[in-house]
Amino acid sequence: MYDVLILGGGAAGFYAAIHIAEADPKLKVAIIERGKDVLGKVKISGGGRCNVTHAEFDPRELVRFYPRGEKELLGPFHSYCSGDTVAFFEERGIALKIEPDGRMFPTTNSSQTIIDCLVNETDRLGVKVFRNSSVSGITKVLEDENKELISWNVQTIRGTYNTRNLLVSTGSNPKIWGMLQKLGHTIVPPVPSLFTFNIKDDRISGISGVSTQARINIIPSKGHLEKFHAALKKYSLQLSDLETEGPLLITHWGMSGPGILRLSAWGALFLNELDYKFTIRVNWLPSYHEGAVMDKLQQVKEIEGKKTVLRTKCFDLPKRLWSSLVKASGITEAHKWADITKTQLQDLAKELTECQFQVNGKSTFKEEFVTAGGIDLKEINFKTYESKLLPNLYFAGEIINVDAITGGFNFQNAWTGAYIAAQGIVKNSKS
Ligand SMILES: Cc1cc2nc3c(=O)[nH]c(=O)nc-3n(C[C@H](O)[C@H](O)[C@H](O)COP(=O)(O)OP(=O)(O)OC[C@H]3O[C@@H](n4cnc5c(N)ncnc54)[C@H](O)[C@@H]3O)c2cc1C
Repeated sequence: MYDVLILGGGAAGFYAAIHIAEADPKLKVAIIERGKDVLGKVKISGGGRCNVTHAEFDPRELVRFYPRGEKELLGPFHSYCSGDTVAFFEERGIALKIEPDGRMFPTTNSSQTIIDCLVNETDRLGVKVFRNSSVSGITKVLEDENKELISWNVQTIRGTYNTRNLLVSTGSNPKIWGMLQKLGHTIVPPVPSLFTFNIKDDRISGISGVSTQARINIIPSKGHLEKFHAALKKYSLQLSDLETEGPLLITHWGMSGPGILRLSAWGALFLNELDYKFTIRVNWLPSYHEGAVMDKLQQVKEIEGKKTVLRTKCFDLPKRLWSSLVKASGITEAHKWADITKTQLQDLAKELTECQFQVNGKSTFKEEFVTAGGIDLKEINFKTYESKLLPNLYFAGEIINVDAITGGFNFQNAWTGAYIAAQGIVKNSKS
């Protein structure tokens, strides 16, 4: 009989095992992992560099990066936040650095550093790791006279294990979700989060690689108004929830960059409902007040009349983007400012501030992709990460219905949940 079995040898599973074994060395702890290798996602994370966490140390600010879990994570982050993660790795000789955008990486720029740290710690603490052991069943063991549950049975392709406490941290694994559903838990259906938008449009074809600050709104498409408003209602969203400002990157397939990814995460369920067919409005000059762009264009027309529009730099915009928007307003290479009609100026102002694009599908963001959905948050006690429905059953990491935007927040969810579950399990083992 194990004191603790941890299903899934990922970030959450290893972090929990280390904290359990460290808090109480007498506990018999093991990790069960289906793969030959452990910590597979850590390995590929952050483009091989592992974006461990984010340099946001205030729980109230940190929760704002979680489209799902914002409310529930506030308490846990007050107990264990990004600063604690940094301290954990630094105490073990792993220095982390902060990049200008707040993302934190090991100074070695290698995710292997994080893997080595976690694996060495479990070795040092005597945690058993069973690899190539896919979990095929989880059953309750009702042992005492009152038929109260006191332990768990776990079946794998290699054998059956019995344990007092069970921590499930198998990430977004549909098979395990199915098993938990049979045990009575509600699984919020998984949908992708963090994706890029597929757009075919002459204004952006041929200018991939261009990146600029933009305000982006999801707006109703003509002909699909009913579906759009029904989806808004279904997910209790306002139009203002579907707006973001941030760097936008034009790619071969459409649009990416932090601004788009943030919108994909906040709109994950809504956009899934729309089959990823929707319209966005891009304001390429978000720092200008309404009307100020037209005023500025008029001013330039008066002052620079002899210059060609295409070659005048009147806004802080990438040259290739400016050319593309100018052409989209019906202004040719030869046109001088003096020749431009009021309508053309208005069209140009519209392209600059209300540029609409049809999105048709999504692509996976290779650097970091996560799934929205998982165990319903209402069924978890966030003081211990224990199931509210079944005793001695705990969850941590991506298996629960929490996900964040890109930047190290998804790992922080795994570290925090694992740490708190570990404390809960240690306490439970003593009682
Ligand atoms: C390409 C990529 C890059 C990423 N980069 C970052 C980043 O830089 N920063 C960041 O914060 N987040 C990043 N993420 C997200 C982050 O990796 C996850 O949020 C995090 O790994 C979740 O940890 P976890 O332990 O809950 O799940 P996982 O890391 O998915 O671990 C679950 C483990 O359970 C095992 N398992 C599943 N089913 C079974 C079974 N039936 N039996 C036994 N074992 C099983 C799996 O093999 C796996 O080892 C990235 C994700 C991807 C896909």
